[in-house]
Amino acid sequence: MDLKKFIRDVPDFPVKGIVFKDITPLLLNHEAFSTAVDSMTKPFEGEKIDKILAIESRGFIFGAPMALKLGAGLIIARKQGKLPWKKVKKTYTLEYGEEILEVHQDAIEKDDRILIVDDLIATGGTARAMAELVEEMGGKVAGCAFLVELTFLEGRKLLKGYRVETIIKY
Ligand code: AMP
Repeated sequence: MDLKKFIRDVPDFPVKGIVFKDITPLLLNHEAFSTAVDSMTKPFEGEKIDKILAIESRGFIFGAPMALKLGAGLIIARKQGKLPWKKVKKTYTLEYGEEILEVHQDAIEKDDRILIVDDLIATGGTARAMAELVEEMGGKVAGCAFLVELTFLEGRKLLKGYRVETIIKY
């Protein structure tokens, strides 16, 4: 199934010069959505994955069904101020300034094997920050899974040393 047909390019969103990869047409089609989740999960089937760490917000859409398929727990990494309880936060720099993501402080137990999930890898900065957070909290990064990869931004370079699996490449 050609999943690229279900990704819509939106030029100049959210700012001029960025071509936004809109995954909502894929979500509208049961077969495409299901194929996307299955394809993202497959490389990690048979691996020991204790928890998926899904990145707000589109990472949640793929991370939750993947966690169910892999028999893993689900950690939600949320933007600052959204989680209700005690948190650990990670500040990182992207093209347009600083970003902060938080997880609950009891989300990761020592040596938990964590799969990081998001819809798309661009520069890799977000996933790299989450990999560092996992390790700072005592976990191990089992890998990173994305539906879409913008290969020209070379995000894999920032994730050197980690296993990176992507399905749709531009
Ligand atoms: P990065 O940290 O540069 O790899 O950026 C990844 C995050 O930004 C992901 O959560 C993506 O959903 C979002 N993102 C970055 N660039 C795009 C794009 N061109 N289209 C859609 N989402 C994007």
